[in-house]
Amino acid sequence: MNQLVTDPGLRNWIKACLGLKYVRDGMLPYIQRKCEDVYANNETFTKTIAKLTTYSCSVCCVKDVKPNHSMNNCPAKGQLGGKTKCACTSKKKQLCPNGGACGVMYDRIMDDHVNMTPRWDNSDCQKWYLNGWEQMKCFIDIPGYKDKALISQADVTAFVHICQNNKTLYTIFKSHLGPVRSQRDLPFRRFEFNR
Ligand SMILES: [Zn+2]
Ligand SMILES: [Zn+2]
Repeated sequence: MNQLVTDPGLRNWIKACLGLKYVRDGMLPYIQRKCEDVYANNETFTKTIAKLTTYSCSVCCVKDVKPNHSMNNCPAKGQLGGKTKCACTSKKKQLCPNGGACGVMYDRIMDDHVNMTPRWDNSDCQKWYLNGWEQMKCFIDIPGYKDKALISQADVTAFVHICQNNKTLYTIFKSHLGPVRSQRDLPFRRFEFNR
């Protein structure tokens, strides 16, 4: 590369981009497996709580769906710092016509978020019953992922956010991800994917 790219700054930038690509490509199959686990667990949970034999809904809208919990039993009460209001505080939300299933899944995703603040606008709840990736996108802190229907369209930022915000993955990665964000050395950290 030294002969092809003579500018040292540009050379370092290319190396950093390649490093990020390798980290992202390495994380993809691991996150994909975790999406499958999340899907299986959440589907079973939703069917049990909603008393359904199958979970399927293609009519709800995530910004209008009524959570399964009541305002009095809100798990986020006192945890959102007054900045974000849980959907249970609005009377305009609509109960999922499929046995309230989307509300149960809504609560499940919220409970799995370390701060109880899923990024709902990254996800389409009409696809929650189809795959775990659509559910996992709620753990990405920044917008712009709603149209990325396939995990293969995700970047390294999405995967790092998911590992930081999903309680299960955070427990596995916490000893690695804290230094990553603060030291900005993401391409050069070594991740362990065997757990
Ligand atoms: Zn609530
Ligand atoms: Zn629904």
